[in-house]
Amino acid sequence: GAKLGVLGSGQLGRMFAIEARRLGYGVHVFSPDEKTPTGAVADREWTTNYDNFDAIDEFARSVDVVTLEFENVPTAALNQIEKFVPVRPGPQVLEAAQNRLKEKSLMRSFGLPTAPFAAIDSLETLTSKLAEFGGQGILKTASWGYDGKGQQMVTSDADLATIWGQYAGNETILEGFIDFTRELSIIGIRDANGNFDCFDPILNHHANHILDVSLAGPGLFRPKVIERAKEIVRTVMDSLDVVGVLCVELFETSGDDLLVNEIAPRPHNSGHLTVDASYCCQFAQQVRSICNLPLGSTELRQPAAMANLLGDLWPKASQPDWAAVLSCPEVHLHLYGKSEAKPGRKMGHLTALSNDVSSAEEIARRVRSLL
Ligand code: ATP
Ligand code: MG
Ligand code: MG
Repeated sequence: GAKLGVLGSGQLGRMFAIEARRLGYGVHVFSPDEKTPTGAVADREWTTNYDNFDAIDEFARSVDVVTLEFENVPTAALNQIEKFVPVRPGPQVLEAAQNRLKEKSLMRSFGLPTAPFAAIDSLETLTSKLAEFGGQGILKTASWGYDGKGQQMVTSDADLATIWGQYAGNETILEGFIDFTRELSIIGIRDANGNFDCFDPILNHHANHILDVSLAGPGLFRPKVIERAKEIVRTVMDSLDVVGVLCVELFETSGDDLLVNEIAPRPHNSGHLTVDASYCCQFAQQVRSICNLPLGSTELRQPAAMANLLGDLWPKASQPDWAAVLSCPEVHLHLYGKSEAKPGRKMGHLTALSNDVSSAEEIARRVRSLL
């Protein structure tokens, strides 16, 4: 049978592998890490660095197509794999997502609005650009950040010299602070023939810069906002010729405008609720889109709320008491099998289904609080 390769080995790869196996595919995973969420459910794993090209060649020869669950894989590894089998999405998509300066410039070139931004290479540019952006901004490392790591809010009255000292030497971007009303994400799917579909937008709540709760269902967004979000993800996927799954994180402003925050060329944490709430979830869509199978329905079966379970909930050296969660019929529990719980680490999530979004949200939050 066909074998699907996945680069990266976290929970996104795990859920992809589970869906791939449901359709009878074998899954081979490549990542530098040992004892991983994906490795635990894969048929074969390579645990070595992405610059080990002997291993990359062997991995590539063992599979029919390669996808990824992590966008910071060096593109040199992808180019090497492409000598043997297709990589979906390809290196050009990863390059766009790996650097916030490149990412935002590309979005602008596709005609999509973003926060105002500038490359910062000195205290002087930081000071002048911050003034230009109204005295409030977010300073971010251009590469590698996730869950708010490597970024901080800056204002003109702060000690900019000290703040700049933490960034100097790294490629850095300053974004103007956006006074958004809400944050949403939109997840699209596209195959090699250009067939496209997307889920309805998902409403996201963050806590400490980490996604906390996501909501999906009728009535969350005005029809105009839904249409605009769909148009944006389609523009991004068509323009970058993305094959696979891609998420666009968006800011909604008071005038019902949408700004692109960032893109993730893979399934997204906010889309985990599609596993229990949609006819065909984001991971099954990833399998279908990279394997030239018909795309599945993106329709929601039921309104849903997803709550992340971070390591903070784990008692020392033991497990939370799952009984209360497991005895709630509307709630679906997902655990990623990570060996060590750390504060801020995504260990699992739960999804509550209900007849309307607000009751789903109430159930998800209440049941999580029982842990
Ligand atoms: P992720 O885990 O989603 O990859 P990240 O570390 O890449 O996160 P961003 O998505 O860029 O970081 O920012 C994290 C959060 O910080 C955003 O979801 C938003 O709440 C806030 N934020 C980021 N940029 C801005 C901005 N320009 N104006 C206002 N808030 C912002
Ligand atoms: Mg990010
Ligand atoms: Mg983000």
